[in-house]
Amino acid sequence: MNEFPQIKEIKCRTILSKSGIEGIDYTINPYIGCQHACRYCYAQYMWPWKNIGLKWGKHIFVKVNALERLNTEIHRIKPWQVVELSSVTDPYQPIERKYQLTRRILEKLLNNNVKTIILTKSNLVTRDIDIMLENSRNLQVGLTIITLDEHFKRAFEPYSPSVKERLSALEKLSRNGIVTFCFIGPMLPVVTDESLWTLIDVLENIGVKMLIFDRMNVKWGLNKHLLEIIGKNFPDLYELYEKVFTGGDYWKYYKSLKNDILNFCEGKSFKVVFCY
Ligand code: SF4
Repeated sequence: MNEFPQIKEIKCRTILSKSGIEGIDYTINPYIGCQHACRYCYAQYMWPWKNIGLKWGKHIFVKVNALERLNTEIHRIKPWQVVELSSVTDPYQPIERKYQLTRRILEKLLNNNVKTIILTKSNLVTRDIDIMLENSRNLQVGLTIITLDEHFKRAFEPYSPSVKERLSALEKLSRNGIVTFCFIGPMLPVVTDESLWTLIDVLENIGVKMLIFDRMNVKWGLNKHLLEIIGKNFPDLYELYEKVFTGGDYWKYYKSLKNDILNFCEGKSFKVVFCY
């Protein structure tokens, strides 16, 4: 685990960020930076991180006044609006064990009947089931899983909890009557599709209510970065990835997989959503 990043406590001017994501009105990011340090993470190329210029995953800024700010800003959220925790950080990264910012923010949102969506890669989210159970009707909790294969997972998501732990978290949440979903993205050739059909069956058995599929964002040189990882860890896949990432074949791959997913999921008990 990436246990020893440099931690800096800061005060934020505002905690509610207007969102451009469809179906989400505001996002709350209690931290800047993310200890999970996923190799494909686009947040490292976005504001404010790109302006900070530090190594992704090694420095975390903690917005220690996040709850104080939310207390002041919560009136801006209309009853029909949706808040996501979080969009450019993981709200349940390891440092959350100590600071409990997400826990206190979640409590505030749910107590005020705010429609809330949690998205994380961590089973730490189950720590807060007690709060969720007090008022879960406005809540959906999602775990991201891009593959069932722990070997692939470790190469692309080196410091986040295992796939097994995430599936257990989804199961525990679902068993407690909380509406759950799985975010499957970015979808990567072989890494994702090799185990996708088994994953979908497992998720159906767990009782998740929705699967959200997303593409790989190949901007900002992320494709080159991933090619390096593939070359180092999975040389057999290098040629395929080179074609898909630099030869412009990613969309062809995505569209064809999308069709297969739609066919496979027909008649299943969950909703299927594609971001693109
Ligand atoms: S958990 Fe999310 S925010 Fe954190 S590094 Fe991974 S993709 Fe980025």
